[in-house]
Amino acid sequence: KRPPVTVIGLGMMGSALAQALLKEGYRTTVWNRSADKAAGLAAQGAVVAGTVAEAVAASPLIIICVLDYGAVNEILEQAGDLLDGRAIVNLTNGTPAQARQMAAWAAEQGIEYLDGGIMAVPQMIASPGALLLYSGSSKIIDTYGPALESFGSTKYLGQDPGLASLHDLALLSAMYGMFSGFFHAVAMIRSEQLQAESFTSLVVPWLQAMSASLPLMAQAVDAGDHQTKVSSLHINQTGFGHFIDACRELGISTELMTPIQELINRGVAEGYGTDGLSRLVELLQKPESV
Ligand code: NDP
Repeated sequence: KRPPVTVIGLGMMGSALAQALLKEGYRTTVWNRSADKAAGLAAQGAVVAGTVAEAVAASPLIIICVLDYGAVNEILEQAGDLLDGRAIVNLTNGTPAQARQMAAWAAEQGIEYLDGGIMAVPQMIASPGALLLYSGSSKIIDTYGPALESFGSTKYLGQDPGLASLHDLALLSAMYGMFSGFFHAVAMIRSEQLQAESFTSLVVPWLQAMSASLPLMAQAVDAGDHQTKVSSLHINQTGFGHFIDACRELGISTELMTPIQELINRGVAEGYGTDGLSRLVELLQKPESV
């Protein structure tokens, strides 16, 4: 039997979540600060709540997806005691500490709390390509797993409520790193009046080939053994110098690249010149200022 579900926050992501629940036949109650965003969902069968309290009272399972934790707090304050005994799934992006703090508050109130990270854009919700990371209450996963699967694939990372956010932000870091590299590369190509699109036929397979080295680097990091037969920090330092010089010749900014150069330089200065690039992880874990 499908339990009623409430979705609070009908921005781009919250609307997609509500739509996915409606599609799966859940009785879905929605609330958004700006009421006009509920109109499209109402036409698809959603029950529109006039207040947060009304929205919370409507379902045992409350999904929240708003701008940030500040907004979550403002919203939950409006629900008061009505939250007692209910299950909250917070899909709002935030830090591990924010998730742990909210879980501790929920535990005090007798509220089950599951924190989640959405590894998808709204258009991917309800497709198998959407991955949602969860951590916190396993009871919510056990009780409401099928409802959560309306959004996409589910990965439960454990009871520690901070783990979903930790993995979400780590994956996003990797994504921004890849995008930054791509943006810089395209700026180089365009500085010579070449087209970005034709360059993708080279850069996509290149990144795919390079990503095959990640498990090997991960092994080196886990073992704390950064000896390399691939390339040393020292050789990367030399190569990076040429690379930065070329950017200056091409008249493009080096602002995405100099931080990597500085990290490699620090590794060599600290005596790790013969280590491989995996050493950089340990350098990041020991910031210079510490
Ligand atoms: P939108 O900007 O589309 O929507 C933001 C939502 O937050 C709106 O419903 C807005 O209400 C609400 N809101 C903001 N401040 C308050 C407040 N003080 N009180 C009540 N409601 C408030 O953002 P998204 O839907 O894209 O993102 C929502 C969450 O999902 C974010 O944490 C985001 O990081 C995460 N996410 C988004 C992804 C994406 O691709 N879009 C991907 C993965 C995660 P109002 O309409 O009244 O302004």
